[in-house]
Amino acid sequence: MEFFGKAVAHIYAIELQKRGLPRAHIRIVLDTKITTAAQVDPFVRAEVPPTFGRLQHIVLKQMTHRCDKDRCLQDGACSKGFPHAFEPETTWKEDDKHPTYRRRSLQQGGFVMWQVAAGSRPARWLDNSWVTSGWFRTTRIAT
Ligand SMILES: [Zn+2]
Repeated sequence: MEFFGKAVAHIYAIELQKRGLPRAHIRIVLDTKITTAAQVDPFVRAEVPPTFGRLQHIVLKQMTHRCDKDRCLQDGACSKGFPHAFEPETTWKEDDKHPTYRRRSLQQGGFVMWQVAAGSRPARWLDNSWVTSGWFRTTRIAT
């Protein structure tokens, strides 16, 4: 299968997260290197899907970040960079290692919902600034 293009090598590791979903770190070396934002968008998203359904449920449950003093907070700031800035579109500058993923605000057509308190976690407004980037098409395949 040539999902991303012709692969010439790959390596992976699987870890189990506290929240119960296995997470795979996969590095694939392609015959043709991905170099533009337009090539990234079909595979990677950092937004909540706009349509209610199983994929949206998975992203909301497994692919959103909550800061925690034991996991990421250092001097009151998130060491993982959350919340990320809103971006109207994916960009990838030539010298950057990684693209900056599209994370639209509500005004830009993005997603927002009220997330109720759960246990020691307070209620909050959840929007795309709290979504981790993921392999959107592969998440869809796994559902
Ligand atoms: Zn954090």
